Amino acid sequence: MSNWYATGNKAAEYAEKQQKSKKGGAFRFWMKQDTSTKIIFLDDFLATREVTLPSGEKSQIRATPFIIDEHQITMNGDFNNYKTCIAKMGPCPLCMAGHKSYTVGYFTVLSQWKDDEGVNHWNKKLYPAKLGALNLIRTQAELREDGQLQYAVLQINRSGDKAFKTGNDFNFMEYAPVEKIYEICPKREDEAKANISPFDYPAILKPDSLKELNILISSGIVAAPRTYGNSGNSSNNSHDSSSNSNDLGGGGESTEHTSAIDY
Ligand SMILES: [Zn+2]
Repeated sequence: MSNWYATGNKAAEYAEKQQKSKKGGAFRFWMKQDTSTKIIFLDDFLATREVTLPSGEKSQIRATPFIIDEHQITMNGDFNNYKTCIAKMGPCPLCMAGHKSYTVGYFTVLSQWKDDEGVNHWNKKLYPAKLGALNLIRTQAELREDGQLQYAVLQINRSGDKAFKTGNDFNFMEYAPVEKIYEICPKREDEAKANISPFDYPAILKPDSLKELNILISSGIVAAPRTYGNSGNSSNNSHDSSSNSNDLGGGGESTEHTSAIDY
């Protein structure tokens, strides 16, 4: 008996800790319905990384975006919990419990928001693009001569309730000079210069271990899987928290393309 309860207590402690340590403090970008904003990609779209093929040969593949399968789960009434799916490496307790995974490609962006005085600010955020949204970004990249969107300023809109919550309408404006990126990117007190590198995806998206996921599932704090309709890829946004609603450009923002961007 005592073993069983000890396990239960540990699980609850673990689960609580889990909830507090969300993604190393990296906020996820999303937009409210019928709003527009500006984003700037920080990822190098031409970067490659070396992989070893089954034959033992080395090959270079594109490093951007960083793509994973992921679960969105509800814990203690909070919908905004994301867990990397481990089904590609073996059994995944979340999959086995009936939670659906989806594929998502991660980017790092600066996203603009206006304060009450109308002053522009930029936040560095994780930009999670599901498959359809990934295609929109790929199209934007293909429209550029070399496929590079690093430091590209894009005006984006999210129109309609079925639209991707990361935006469904992209308009390239210009490439921001790198000095401008350093100037607008938030910087920590102890940093001499802003860190304009993309997030360390392998670190912040590293999956929990099989053991940890098993404990999480058995802790009872994960709500039953959501049931999905046939609405395809568009996600239900009614559960979005408003914790980062202040990074939106606001409805009155001009969508005119001018070369003089109001950073
Ligand atoms: Zn899974």
